[in-house]
Amino acid sequence: MNDLLNRFLKYVKINTMSSEESNTTPSTREQFDLANLLKDELFELGLTDIKLTDKCILTAKLKANTNSNLNIGFIAHLDTIPGFSGKNVNPQVINNYDGKDIPLKGITLGAKDFPSLKKLKGKTLITTDGTTVLGADDKAGVAIIMSMLNYFKENPSVKHHNICVAFTPDEEIGGGISSFDINDFGADYAYTIDGQTFNEIAYNNFNASSAKVTIKGLDIHPGDAKGHMLNASLIAMEFHNMLPVYASPMCTSGTEGFIHLCDINGDVSACHLNYIIREHDYKKLKALEKIMLDAAKYINNKYPKGTCTIDIKLSYLNMYDIIKKDKRSINRATKAIKDLGYDVITSPIRGGTDGAKLTQMGLNTPNLGTGGYNCHGPYEFACLEEMEIVKNIIINIAKN
Ligand SMILES: [Zn+2]
Repeated sequence: MNDLLNRFLKYVKINTMSSEESNTTPSTREQFDLANLLKDELFELGLTDIKLTDKCILTAKLKANTNSNLNIGFIAHLDTIPGFSGKNVNPQVINNYDGKDIPLKGITLGAKDFPSLKKLKGKTLITTDGTTVLGADDKAGVAIIMSMLNYFKENPSVKHHNICVAFTPDEEIGGGISSFDINDFGADYAYTIDGQTFNEIAYNNFNASSAKVTIKGLDIHPGDAKGHMLNASLIAMEFHNMLPVYASPMCTSGTEGFIHLCDINGDVSACHLNYIIREHDYKKLKALEKIMLDAAKYINNKYPKGTCTIDIKLSYLNMYDIIKKDKRSINRATKAIKDLGYDVITSPIRGGTDGAKLTQMGLNTPNLGTGGYNCHGPYEFACLEEMEIVKNIIINIAKN
């Protein structure tokens, strides 16, 4: 059986859902089940320096079979999303896909809703059974990296650079990467294999911050409230209405940024609003933050001082601002893709990746595709031939 498919089917069957309710890292012990399996497999594949930390970060090295001193990293995450079941995944392999609708339990994976299916006629697809995610995000990435290592084991005459691999927890809930030791990992630059389109290189992500806004009111019996009551919920509405309506997620696309109200809860005495702010351009991120700070200032001038407090925190930065100063990783991946005869897609991404944080920490880490589609739901599927292409891309990247 095909090594890549074999590994992928094995990994997706292991439940590794992360959990937002947990305050430990990893957020769920189950992520160790996959990490421990991979640890054994890395040993069988002849890797050295295999380490699995108590935070469930698994790293290992495959030494160059030349005198190269270039160290290239490949990273994928172990977990699947907390919001949709990744338990008892029952993958369906469809050989020579006929281009028609694919009936699953209770749902239909059809070309009308998912036009990308059309171009996959004749390919091998792996779908869910309709009741869970598939977990191609990111077990496709895990399988591609492991199968690349297997290729070098089976083809010892192919010369390659030093290869550093890592499998990390809790990407889907953020934070799993924060204890990653980039010095110990030892890569000069790295790639996360966690995108979708097989020929993409993503390195232009959002700059991201969050804003916690608290409005303090003055709760007085409504019968005696005239001239005294301060209704925090009404003031919160006033605050929000000062923000530009066009800078919302519903009105923006491409590289346009936004302010997004994630949740609001309150009563007369207090109201809390949680926002996220996103912009590809750092200066424009700061400008959006200033709009919020000015709105808070206005509230505090109109009402008693201290009515509105706002706490803005930076979450992650656009890796492009760092990577553009050292494009070795991009140039190498571009050549690897073009040498296989494919164009390179480098559209800006409206989100962040673990690579954004790693790049900020000092390890340039653009994101490559996986051949996965429709992640984070029961319509998720993967195309084996595209996964194979990504495997060949990273073999090319690692080759000397
Ligand atoms: Zn992912």
